[in-house]
Amino acid sequence: MDGGAVGAEELSAALLELEEQVVDDAEAGYATATRLEQQAVALGDEGLLMRARLCRTTLGVRIGNLAGTARKLQEIREWAARNDDRMVQARTHLTSSIIERMVGDAAKSLEHALSAVELLDETATSYTQINHRTKLADALALTGSMDAARLRYRQAEELAREAGQWRRLMVLLNNWAFSEHAAGEFERARDIAGRMVRLAEEHGVQLDPSSLHTLADIQVALGEFGEAERTMLASIARYEAGWVDDADDLAYFQLTLARAQRGLGALGRAQDTLHSCRALCEEGGLYGLLVEAYEEQAELHAARGDFAAAFAAQKEFVAAQERLRSQERDAQVQTRHAIFETAEAREDAERFREQARRDPLTGLRNRRYVDEELSALIAADPALSVALVDIDHFKRINDTLSHDTGDQVLARLATLLESGLAAAVPDGFVARLGGEEFLLVLPATPVAVAVTKLDGIRQAVSDHAWPDLPGGWCVTVSIGVAGARESFPASQSAALAAADRNLYAAKEQGRNRVVSGTPPERRPRIYRDREVT
Ligand code: GH3
Ligand code: MG
Ligand code: MG
Repeated sequence: MDGGAVGAEELSAALLELEEQVVDDAEAGYATATRLEQQAVALGDEGLLMRARLCRTTLGVRIGNLAGTARKLQEIREWAARNDDRMVQARTHLTSSIIERMVGDAAKSLEHALSAVELLDETATSYTQINHRTKLADALALTGSMDAARLRYRQAEELAREAGQWRRLMVLLNNWAFSEHAAGEFERARDIAGRMVRLAEEHGVQLDPSSLHTLADIQVALGEFGEAERTMLASIARYEAGWVDDADDLAYFQLTLARAQRGLGALGRAQDTLHSCRALCEEGGLYGLLVEAYEEQAELHAARGDFAAAFAAQKEFVAAQERLRSQERDAQVQTRHAIFETAEAREDAERFREQARRDPLTGLRNRRYVDEELSALIAADPALSVALVDIDHFKRINDTLSHDTGDQVLARLATLLESGLAAAVPDGFVARLGGEEFLLVLPATPVAVAVTKLDGIRQAVSDHAWPDLPGGWCVTVSIGVAGARESFPASQSAALAAADRNLYAAKEQGRNRVVSGTPPERRPRIYRDREVT
């Protein structure tokens, strides 16, 4: 498929391939997902876009591209929830489960794996049914709940057999055998690995290097060293023949081979294998494996009877383990950071939103904030009062002094109003509605009480020394107050209109005063008009 126009069906089929196949080459898969996402954009199909984006995010995790992962998954998950797309929702959880496993949080990994299964419905393909249950079983095994894990592995196996999905079944049996081995249940592990081997034989396919590795690990654990060496040599041969797998795998394979060879008593061969393994670890920065390699080195020296060397290797092992622990901690911090850096971006957006709701000159809340918040406050609080504050003869300041001085007065008044209100009504707030007009909101303050408190504020303004103004110049304000439930039905606009009426009355009555209770009849709609009319 090229970058040209494609239809929705074709795109959906291409996506299904990415969703329902084991992608060996994650880099190439990521590139494909990116292209499919662009095609979905071109098609304008949101559902396909989300599927493509999810594929890209999931494959991105595999190539270490963790930046923004949490936000992307969250966004896709929210979209899927809104649009009732349970498959996409389930897949986002599967990816989160994988990430949490990588970061070493087994409990969170399990939580997501559970959601990934719970969200499946009858529209889920058998591939998805099997895959999600297998991952749930892996997560359960990781937390040490082997009985619960086995139940899911069995369910998944049954589904796979019913659906004839034997390739999925091979993956499942490999994971299951690995989990049993990790839990120290070697006999069970052998049993399951045996079923995996028979399944491969039935279908005339070879086991992949990693399945052979699981098998060899089990054989080593059971003391079947000859078998284990043969299995591991086959695994490495297949790996070297170009069986696509993780590049780090060879070092892991060699460690198991060295263990098998030591068990066989072939100490020279074991030492050669281990040398090569350690070199690969150091080259590839595989510190976790290197720790195990040092441990194996100590065992090997001990097997030769060289206890001084064994002791030295043991010391190296302990030191490497310490290094590894601190590196793991760093890596966890970095990974968590990469995953959650977008939480910071969200906070930035929150700050930006907050800024958008403030007046830049005074730092007060602005009209947008009032429009967003006030109605709800009025609805919830029958005793809420609102007050409009307007500077008296403000034009004179602008005209006689300067616009800049006018701005300074506005900023200073804002502080006076804020501190005055904070002292009088702690959970109230001040907003600048525009120009030299301010709104004071006084929760749980009946009008009569509000009048007294506001008169204190008015007095403080007129008593203020106003250092920015020439000597003797004083600034006063007129205030109109109204109770939120003064008008019926109570509303933001009715409350503000009543306060505006009272403000007009305050101006009429000579300014520098607080007025409440002006009846609606006397109301000229906009008091500023009075100079014109
Ligand atoms: P009144 O006592 O009747 O309110 O008289 P007033 O002069 O204050 O009259 P009015 O409220 O109508 O005029 C408001 C003036 O405020 C008009 C405008 O030039 C000025 N103004 C509005 N916004 C700003 C601002 O951001 N900075 C400055 N410096 N002046 C502003
Ligand atoms: Mg005005
Ligand atoms: Mg004014």
